Amino acid sequence: MARRCQICGKLSPTQSQRCDCGYDFVTGEVGGAIERANIDSQLAVTGIVGGGGMIAAGVLGAVLGGALAWWLALEGFAVLAWGLGCAGSVSLVIAVVGLVKMVKATAAQREAARRGRTAEDRKALPEARALD
Ligand SMILES: [Zn+2]
Repeated sequence: MARRCQICGKLSPTQSQRCDCGYDFVTGEVGGAIERANIDSQLAVTGIVGGGGMIAAGVLGAVLGGALAWWLALEGFAVLAWGLGCAGSVSLVIAVVGLVKMVKATAAQREAARRGRTAEDRKALPEARALD
């Protein structure tokens, strides 16, 4: 038999004292879970900001690279234009990776916030522990 965490919903072995999220199965203490949720939430926000930065840098690089490549091509510098075109493409890939990172971090942030709220609710209603 496994026990399901009341905070995050994950299953843990029956003999474990604490869930990965910080919830204490034995005492019903939620302080650790609240702390963990706050840390996870902050890390996720860092990821969202980082992803946003990658998108901005990637789009800017692609636009500048593309414009410069176009100009160089018109001026007859085919090889340079091709190189900058490639750099522009790499920038687009960076922007896409940034977008994926941002979406994932947003989901992680929402999950951590939900976990934090569940833990806070439990803290406010200690009698709910008796139902475990
Ligand atoms: Zn948990």
